[in-house]
Amino acid sequence: MKSLILAYIDLNMKEDLLNDPVFSMAAGQFDRVADFLKLDDRVRERCKWPKRIITVSLPVTMDDGRTEVFFGYRVQHHLSRGPVKGGLRFHPKVKLGEVAALAMWMNWKCALMGLPYGGGKGGIACNPLEMSMGEQERLTRRFAQEIAPFIGPEIDVMAPDVGTTAQHMAWILDTYSTREGRFVPEIVTGKPVVLQGSEGRTQATGHGVAFLATRALNKLGILVEGATAIVQGFGNVGSHTVETMDSYGMKIRGVSDISGAVWNEQGLDVAALKAHLAKTGGVAGFGGGEMIDPDEMLLQECDVLVPAAFERVITGEIAAKLRCKILAEAANGPTTQSADAIIEERDDIFLIPDILCNAGGVTVSYFEWVQNLQRFSWTKAEVLAKLETKLNEAFENLLFFCAEHKCSHRLGALATGIDTVAKVKKTRGLFP
Ligand code: GLU
Repeated sequence: MKSLILAYIDLNMKEDLLNDPVFSMAAGQFDRVADFLKLDDRVRERCKWPKRIITVSLPVTMDDGRTEVFFGYRVQHHLSRGPVKGGLRFHPKVKLGEVAALAMWMNWKCALMGLPYGGGKGGIACNPLEMSMGEQERLTRRFAQEIAPFIGPEIDVMAPDVGTTAQHMAWILDTYSTREGRFVPEIVTGKPVVLQGSEGRTQATGHGVAFLATRALNKLGILVEGATAIVQGFGNVGSHTVETMDSYGMKIRGVSDISGAVWNEQGLDVAALKAHLAKTGGVAGFGGGEMIDPDEMLLQECDVLVPAAFERVITGEIAAKLRCKILAEAANGPTTQSADAIIEERDDIFLIPDILCNAGGVTVSYFEWVQNLQRFSWTKAEVLAKLETKLNEAFENLLFFCAEHKCSHRLGALATGIDTVAKVKKTRGLFP
């Protein structure tokens, strides 16, 4: 009877997850790669489903005196290779299935980069743009308090993601440290440097995206200086990608954010755009270019197209019309499976898949954690040099793997990550 009930619950959970479009995309990618790797069915199942799914309700006193209850999630996909690692997202559209998909991708990303972590992701359905800092602080602290029994420097280490910053990590660090009765900087990464955050962490993801774009340009025989780019999204990742590309002498033709898209065929003045953003909060109305339709922007000609916003923005319809030479996936899961199939068939776009392209963030998070555990600190130059070495190694390994197996970059990257996790699970065995 007991096992029947468990099987029933299990089936519902699988169905619920698969009903989410983002999870079903991640699971579809996994299935394809598992077939490619001819994964043993037993290991396959263990790799596919998340180990722990935690949902907490979060009552928060709002500034007007009301109590509002938010829902927060943390999905720990697997703990077989070390603590889980991944960001915490604040966004009104956060759903459990999406968080589970993002946790799954974090696994393959950490394994691909050779980091001793499993994948995790957290999210709270809320709109930080409409909340005061006080409300955000109370929400973050309440989440840290509720989730505290399930996290720890050797269990689950959070970091910023969409809608959260170093300040949110500082509040988690403080709440957790207060509970423990000691300062525990290694509980989160991406925290402020003054709290033993790592130099270079804030720009790490964007720096990695720009660096890998130059590696791809190099492979295609295109000069970096003067190469053109379009960037969708101007948050932490998009803005640092743009800044780093600008510092390499690349021309940024178009940038978009929620306020709209700004275009200048000759290249945008990045410093002026940043100053405009600091003043107005969005790219809209920037004098150094013309406003264009954000969807149209994706279809313009360029050397490097960087989706740096959300999942599933490059659909099959868009993929067929892309005019970029390199697609550098700074966001997690920006390309749908039908778009992937089209890109593979077209064979004229050099894809830098998300789990490699945006791995700069979690790689420097790993450096931060290691520095914290050793109570040591590296300079920004040291951090970025180590980051570039690691990214370059993963990039070259991927190209080698794909050439050897005659497969796409997406398949190669996922296969490398999934195979690493599968081997660990198989070698550890199944208990009991
Ligand atoms: N949120 C980032 C990602 O999706 C960073 C995660 C981390 O540093 O742990 O990769």
